[in-house]
Amino acid sequence: MTLTSSSPASGLAAVETEIRRACKEARRERTSVNLIAVSKTFEADAIQPVIDAGQRMFGENRVQEAKGKWPALTEAQPAIALHLIGPLQSNKAKEAVALFDAIHSVDRPSLCDALAKEIAGQGKSPQLFVQINTGEEPQKAGIAPSEADDFLARCRDHWGLAITGLMCIPPVEEAVAPHFALTAKIAARNGLTQLSMGMSADFATAIQFGATHVRVGSAIFGHR
Ligand SMILES: *Cc1c(COP(=O)(O)O)cnc(C)c1O
Repeated sequence: MTLTSSSPASGLAAVETEIRRACKEARRERTSVNLIAVSKTFEADAIQPVIDAGQRMFGENRVQEAKGKWPALTEAQPAIALHLIGPLQSNKAKEAVALFDAIHSVDRPSLCDALAKEIAGQGKSPQLFVQINTGEEPQKAGIAPSEADDFLARCRDHWGLAITGLMCIPPVEEAVAPHFALTAKIAARNGLTQLSMGMSADFATAIQFGATHVRVGSAIFGHR
């Protein structure tokens, strides 16, 4: 499905319509799906109309970029929730825990060390999603599916991290459904209910497979 938008606000409305359609088809409540509007690379003048239209959950993929543009926006609208959806370096864990309400890219022990320390130190508890590299792509971040159960157990037992759910980014060249199904299966057997999956091209399919958080950028904001 391709959604084209003439403005961010109309893009948001089109995405909302499609989410409702997908929820109806999957016999799910609209409230069971969180829309994360991915505003990376866009400036405040593109983001503000989307906030004005009622959107409150936003995604960014870089700590520095988010730190530069979001404090002014959230000062005017404190109900905004910011989600970090991109890779996180351990030395940025401090800033990430301070700024974000959710981190979707937990993917290695060194990062878990850093996050556990910052969460304890700052007294904050962002939602944490473990990224699963469902396509086992060497260049892509994420835990291999075969190592996910062990890693999730270590998150709990070794680092004391409360994991909210799982995140995946399917390989670009492949059908997405098997990757969404695999992520849902790993989550279910580990007692996790939240699934961050689906982007502009495939969020309706992700909803069919149980996504609770869809990360939608270009269908709202236009091409980057
Ligand atoms: C950029 C990005 C998205 C949004 O992608 P669109 O195709 O523009 O919807 C979603 N998830 C992650 C991890 C991203 O980096």
